[in-house]
Amino acid sequence: MADDSNQSTPLEKPPAAPDQAAAADPFGGLTIDFGGGANGAGEAPAPAANGSSPIDFGAPIAFGPPANAPPADAPLSTPMRPKTGGPVGGPDDGAERDEHRTKVLIIGSGPSGLTAAIYAARANLEPIVLAGAVPGGQLMITSDVENYPGFPDGILGPELMGKFREQAERFGTRIVDVDADRVDFSQRPFRVWARGTEYRADSVIVATGASALWLGLESETRLRGRGVSACATCDGFFFKGKEIAVVGGGDTALEEATYLTRFATKVHLLHRRESFRASKIMVDRAIANPKIEIHTNTAVDEVLGGAKVEGLRIRDMVSDTTREVPMEGLFIAIGYRPNTEIFKEQLEVDDKGYLVVHDETGSKIDGVFIAGDVHDHRYRQAVTAAADGCKAAIDAERWLESEGISEAATATAW
Ligand code: NDP
Repeated sequence: MADDSNQSTPLEKPPAAPDQAAAADPFGGLTIDFGGGANGAGEAPAPAANGSSPIDFGAPIAFGPPANAPPADAPLSTPMRPKTGGPVGGPDDGAERDEHRTKVLIIGSGPSGLTAAIYAARANLEPIVLAGAVPGGQLMITSDVENYPGFPDGILGPELMGKFREQAERFGTRIVDVDADRVDFSQRPFRVWARGTEYRADSVIVATGASALWLGLESETRLRGRGVSACATCDGFFFKGKEIAVVGGGDTALEEATYLTRFATKVHLLHRRESFRASKIMVDRAIANPKIEIHTNTAVDEVLGGAKVEGLRIRDMVSDTTREVPMEGLFIAIGYRPNTEIFKEQLEVDDKGYLVVHDETGSKIDGVFIAGDVHDHRYRQAVTAAADGCKAAIDAERWLESEGISEAATATAW
């Protein structure tokens, strides 16, 4: 492989040949108007003073408290906390309820795990969530979430997860911020170990999600936290006034690049291929952003710098040549790996390492359910993960009921 330069030169695009120009802007500057006019008839209603169109929802609706709601001044979580003493497992399993024994153990605290917790808690199943040492899932490293229903102005990923957690705890979920490191699903109650503690559960919902991938360079690992990051929301602020790069060609990379323009003077988006996996709207947004410079057919061979990131050695994938460019930060946004390591011996995994589900949320073991990105490599959205968590909790509740472990759910239990 040729290395035609050891010099540090600013990362500027060479003059674009016609086909290269098309590569930088694969859509030829074309933008699509999805609206057809805001009213669908080719005409937009008159904008409000702030530029948005007002929607009249009519008079406010008063929601009274549900019949089974606790008094407004009652501490919400206390009455539903796991009680000590008393049998809790299958009929006559003799198990005593304690802080490590539950009807539903949820592993993972992203949108699927915490939605499962909300549903299980509201069905009085008193779930325990093993949330992970770094709780909250992938949305904790996501900036603006603009597609989660109910937040018309968007919401930051960590803020959204804070609300999920608050809602789960409000109904009595016990959340422990530890990683599960071993499971035994071969007998009931199921057993899960986390930092030396054994948890026992009548049913388990696996919602461990998927983790960010890294390039795998030694220099990338060495400089992590010193200019290399996979979390624009966490670290973007530190790059105020700096010139930085983002690697990847999916929605994550495009989203992070756009977010980082709030801080950086310039964001170089480096993608190893010609075309993007990202949705067209995200690509268009990046193309239109004057602070983003897109470099297709460009790979990162090395991160340069001693105590901090000072540059990158990048490879032109077409000419197979490298050059070094000054850079003050590097964000890796190249996808995810499912967190299935501790389940591989006991549950089925597919060829990409994701768990295999049967009948919506089931696994090959009765009483062990699966929810969210740990099995879903198709949709991978917060809203689909949340929906999956809901389904898993309902399925777990019905299974516990069929096993005689919990009382029949009522229509209002959820
Ligand atoms: P994707 O798998 O969609 O994209 C990963 C990108 O990283 C690809 O462009 C891939 O290149 C590139 N890549 C992978 N490995 C390497 C490597 N070793 N070196 C260089 N480049 C590499 O992952 P995302 O995280 O972007 O998205 C995951 C899912 O989440 C998608 O379904 C996406 O739509 C969704 N998502 C939605 C968001 C939203 O709607 N707001 C925000 C973020 C994600 P190549 O194309 O060559 O394979």
